[in-house]
Amino acid sequence: MTIQEQIRQKAQEYRDYTAVNLSKMIKAKSYSGKEEEVCRVISSLCGEAGFDEVYFDGLGSVIGRVGNGPKKIAFDAHIDTVEVGDPGQWNFDPFAGEIREGRVWGRGAADQKGGAASMITAGRILKELGYDGIFTVYFTFTVMEEDCDGMCWKYLIEEEKLVPDYVVSTEPTSLRLHRGHRGRMEIEVRLKGISSHGSAPERGVSAAYKAARAALAIEKLNDDLKPDSDNFLGKGTVVVSQIQVQGPSQCAVPDQAMLYLDRRLTWGEDADLAMSQVKKYVAEAVGDSEDEISVVMPFYAKTGWKNKEYGQELYFPTWKFPESHKLVQGGVAGYKALFQKDPVIDKWTFSTNCVATSGRHNIPAIGFGPGDEHEAHAPNESNRIDDLEICAAFYAMLPYSLQNSMQQ
Ligand SMILES: [Zn+2]
Repeated sequence: MTIQEQIRQKAQEYRDYTAVNLSKMIKAKSYSGKEEEVCRVISSLCGEAGFDEVYFDGLGSVIGRVGNGPKKIAFDAHIDTVEVGDPGQWNFDPFAGEIREGRVWGRGAADQKGGAASMITAGRILKELGYDGIFTVYFTFTVMEEDCDGMCWKYLIEEEKLVPDYVVSTEPTSLRLHRGHRGRMEIEVRLKGISSHGSAPERGVSAAYKAARAALAIEKLNDDLKPDSDNFLGKGTVVVSQIQVQGPSQCAVPDQAMLYLDRRLTWGEDADLAMSQVKKYVAEAVGDSEDEISVVMPFYAKTGWKNKEYGQELYFPTWKFPESHKLVQGGVAGYKALFQKDPVIDKWTFSTNCVATSGRHNIPAIGFGPGDEHEAHAPNESNRIDDLEICAAFYAMLPYSLQNSMQQ
């Protein structure tokens, strides 16, 4: 039997095992920063699957290892989830981990404990096949992604010095092969007015009216943004997500305003460019000089379940790799060997941990994951068991097919 036939057979044999492991992970509720229980569940599942090594990093992510090769490939799943939202919109208990109708149901089923379950099965398959190729295969089950995507990987690379040669994100892709997504950042704009008594507005300068003009300038900036040259990622966007205005009283002209912006960054756009655009558009609209306007990237910090505090600026750089890249080609070859057809190559709409591995650190990455992006953060979330099986096979196959494509 060829290696791909053995992998397909084992993934099929372990179909229920993968579904049950996903169910166990859903039962262990894991909001961002509170992932200890699910991390302990995953650590013991990796141990039972025969991984060569399993440990917690300083932030609390679970790191599993199979193999000892000179090159490093990391399969990544974040294992925190967003909250449930309005429980009345769920038709079932989001933490029961029900398995029925060919699906596993619950919060995190698609985003993205399904990828994590397929990874454990892939590690088990690689161990049973006696994998001894050129890769050390890491399976990373990472924390705090939902609050600050990529921070767990910034920590792994910069603090723990785990620097892979290749990364595979297992966020949901509906079984398409992804090779990029837009980056993003958050921007805070502060404007000043001059307060005066509400009975005499002509004596003051209203920060509220400045904020209104600034908001319309941001709308214009959004219209003016352009797509990347090959239109793979599409155009960047900017949105005013909050406005706050303050003054000495409700009977006064306000003297302070804050606008909060969500900026999505296409290829070729970075933080410096995005902030200089905001400064220019707002300055023109409100009639202040650029020096009078404060435009900053806020800083995020949080304490994880291991009581370690870590943080970063709210900046998540864009990434993409060409279709001709050997990692993309290794993924295509692996998929074809297993399923006798070409995968669809695409991109995510949302953002993933690849903002750190690939946007920040330029490590080649692809995405391939079970389930659909539209299930993420939605009520009645679920994942297809068919997808779990296919992903388990794909993750086990990739170290072989990538080694082939590297040696060509
Ligand atoms: Zn996710």
